[in-house]
Amino acid sequence: MQTKKSDALFERAKKKMPGGVNSPVRAFQSVSGSPRFICRAKGNHLYDVDGNEYIDYIGSWGPMILGHNPDFVLQAVQEQMQNGLSYGTATALEVEMAELISQLVPCVEMIRMVNSGTEAVMSAVRAARGFTKRNKIIKFAGCYHGHADAMLVKAGSGVMTAGIPDSSGVPNGCTADTLSAIYNDVESVEKLFQEYPNEIACVIVEPVAANMGVVPPKESFLQQLRILCDKYGALLIFDEVITGFRLQIDGAVGYYDVTPDLITYGKIIGAGMPVGAYGGRKEIMQLIAPLGSVYQAGTLSGNPVAMRAGLTQLRYLQQHPEIYTQIETRSEQLRNGLQQLLTFYHLPCTVTGVGSLSCLYFTSEQVTNYETAKTANTDLFRQYFHFMLERGNYFAPSQFEAIFLSAAHTEADILKTLSDAESFFQTFSDWI
Ligand SMILES: *Cc1c(COP(=O)(O)O)cnc(C)c1O
Repeated sequence: MQTKKSDALFERAKKKMPGGVNSPVRAFQSVSGSPRFICRAKGNHLYDVDGNEYIDYIGSWGPMILGHNPDFVLQAVQEQMQNGLSYGTATALEVEMAELISQLVPCVEMIRMVNSGTEAVMSAVRAARGFTKRNKIIKFAGCYHGHADAMLVKAGSGVMTAGIPDSSGVPNGCTADTLSAIYNDVESVEKLFQEYPNEIACVIVEPVAANMGVVPPKESFLQQLRILCDKYGALLIFDEVITGFRLQIDGAVGYYDVTPDLITYGKIIGAGMPVGAYGGRKEIMQLIAPLGSVYQAGTLSGNPVAMRAGLTQLRYLQQHPEIYTQIETRSEQLRNGLQQLLTFYHLPCTVTGVGSLSCLYFTSEQVTNYETAKTANTDLFRQYFHFMLERGNYFAPSQFEAIFLSAAHTEADILKTLSDAESFFQTFSDWI
């Protein structure tokens, strides 16, 4: 596969941008080599500047649930652009977006749009602290909630593969109130509550942990969190930046039948435009400025083009529930296919997943949390990643990211990918 143009761009990029990228995991740091520079995407395919074509298993890290650039979304965006790119005023589109999300996920009684998942989490935590008048928060090791200072404690994928435990530049004071618990381990949460019974404002969790690979919640884990939060007067925040409108139309809230107090969204609600949102119980959201005393603002928040793109995709999903069954079936086909190969070739790997999210871990351990995820052999992943990329399968360049499927993936795509994976496994059947 020819990569001359990508390689040249990367050399130029590295001179002017840290690591040559605008977000760390794009740099191929954990798998080595130069990133491919993509210039076009359509359906299930990415095209790079050297003319190579890939089946895309990242989907822009989640937004592209219908595949890239669906004609009707593109048309809506083009129509919207005719009216201007941004006004910095109130628009009808924002009202429609708030009403639609509230209709799809009724526990979102009020919502505030922001520009990224990071902002959504940062603001939701501020609201939780303002509401409870408490400072401490509990997050789970290996869960990523964006890069706000308070969240950069055992923060999953990007940080995980770079081998940096936490980030420098974050004063101790910013993370002093961030307590870290073990995913899928209710006792580790209860212990923290017992230690600080009246100080914990909220528990924030990825209902499916999708930033340390993919770790589904154990039976009743989320229910137990709900019970503990109620017992100690803390709020439960679901970070649904990945799971929202992806697991099913009402996200993890519906999938696991647990009602959090606040939810954060991102990625998918902008259909590829930069966007985020947080919402939930009215009595909490009424504390947000200008109504209440919790300040939060955004010049470009609720941008009309982003709203139009997101609304168009969400409405389509609402009208086509069969999409979720279709993507889940494809994902199961991929997971089952990989599992069969692992069994047949006796490989020390583990397949996890739920709905359209999957992961192939290069470890024989059952992955249930950060510690077990970390047992994955990232050197084997690196070899697998490049082998698959060379054959046109574009997976996220890190062991600790999800495989995202979309409605544009066909059975033929999955079969091709499985066939390439088999070629790799054949050469590695003498690992053990
Ligand atoms: C990606 C992600 C974020 C951060 O969103 P950005 O838009 O990258 O700031 C927060 N939480 C989760 C669960 C995410 O996957």
